[in-house]
Amino acid sequence: MGIPCGEAKRYTGRVQKTKRAAAGVGRGRHTLIGMSHDDAEPTVTSAGPSAVTAEEEVARICAELIRIDSSNYGDGSGPGERKAAEYVMGELAEVGLEGTLLESEPGRATVVVRLEGEDSSRPGLAVHGHLDVVPANAADWQVDPFAAEERDGCIWGRGAVDMKDMDAMILANIRHFARSGTRPARDTTFVFFADEEAGGTYGSHWLVDHQPQWFEGVTEAISEVGGYSVSVPTSQGPQRAYLLQTAEKGIAWLRLRAHGRAGHGSVPNDDNAIVRLAAAIGRIAAHEWPREYIASVRELLDTLSTMTGLSSADEDLEQLLATLGGAQGFVRGTLRDTANVTMLESGYKHNVIPQTATAAVDCRFLPGHEDALMATIRELAGEHVEVEVVHRDVAIEAPFSGDLVESMKQALLREDPEAAVLPYCLSGGTDNKALSRLGISGYGFAPLRLPADLDFAPMFHGIDERVPVDSLCFGARVLGDFLRTC
Ligand SMILES: [Zn+2]
Repeated sequence: MGIPCGEAKRYTGRVQKTKRAAAGVGRGRHTLIGMSHDDAEPTVTSAGPSAVTAEEEVARICAELIRIDSSNYGDGSGPGERKAAEYVMGELAEVGLEGTLLESEPGRATVVVRLEGEDSSRPGLAVHGHLDVVPANAADWQVDPFAAEERDGCIWGRGAVDMKDMDAMILANIRHFARSGTRPARDTTFVFFADEEAGGTYGSHWLVDHQPQWFEGVTEAISEVGGYSVSVPTSQGPQRAYLLQTAEKGIAWLRLRAHGRAGHGSVPNDDNAIVRLAAAIGRIAAHEWPREYIASVRELLDTLSTMTGLSSADEDLEQLLATLGGAQGFVRGTLRDTANVTMLESGYKHNVIPQTATAAVDCRFLPGHEDALMATIRELAGEHVEVEVVHRDVAIEAPFSGDLVESMKQALLREDPEAAVLPYCLSGGTDNKALSRLGISGYGFAPLRLPADLDFAPMFHGIDERVPVDSLCFGARVLGDFLRTC
């Protein structure tokens, strides 16, 4: 199809207002939870020409979301998601939809909206994004991370990649459904979560624990960190391949606590807690975790091998991984379990041997490996070092087959017929972990056709995060197509 996206590039507020007026879209009539809504003008609910498409709005919405700082520091000190959630509520109300804004704690806000599908007898789908972002140190960036500047055809800012881009694609499509009176194929629960960047305690896990009814009938979900393209070198030249995320490693954030004998810094001490901790850390760092290929990783490597003509044997793997460019880091993290020491704390005076010493270890395990990883860490830690679990979450794996996967593939291929679609496992985690507790199979499908020279994957939590406007338009089209056909 390839609708030219030139129009959508004019996403500034002024231009868009003119468009809205032309489209006859007024303020919504619904009362918003916790929001004053006194600019009541004559309203249009679901009417308005269907001419305003998702791709015409997606860049504006992405930029406006980036300008709302929703940094999540993980300790409750950030601004929270409330402003971003109110923005989403406003965008929904404007097209006559009543979203529900839920707060787990003051300021920690999630928005849910359900749309009835063409065939409500089919199992429901969840489509979710998160409204929070990781913090940004402005001094490290070429641009103000919360200004959503447009440069070189890209929107720059914290969240442009993770994941206000996909939030905008979702919201733009919901708005188009409402205005055009069309429906998604299946009953669909759309969620904009709080707190994904700190494990979802105040977002996805909270919603699953306290209001699981939102997911009644839902069997499958799509969200972030998958569906983006990489350029793979083949004998026929570079070929575009979309990485569809079908699995996520599990998380075990551990605290090691070494115990020893306190004493004077001048007196020999064979029971020094710091020495015991250092030895434990040294053993964990030196441990070679066995390599194991889960189904999605095996299929990814085998398909890459076929595409490139390179061997997928263990000893040749580095060469094969290199064909993925910046995305290779995500894949390298999924070849085995991992354990990285990330924080260290002990002592309070130069001449005092402390009684305890602690370290934080970030462990990520493959599906089915949690018990074995914990046993290995306990053994490596040794007898004087306790291992405490600070936070854990499951590993998940869904098949790279079936109707939903086929719908994702076909939606991509209708826009980009020559491309390949490959499965992959994410070394990190998403809100799909929380939904898996309700038996929902989660995939990463935030479709973006990216320029071959854009090093996309390292921008997740990186600096100078940016997304091409053309890629957003592509994503809005593919997502809309998918939602109508899945
Ligand atoms: Zn994310």
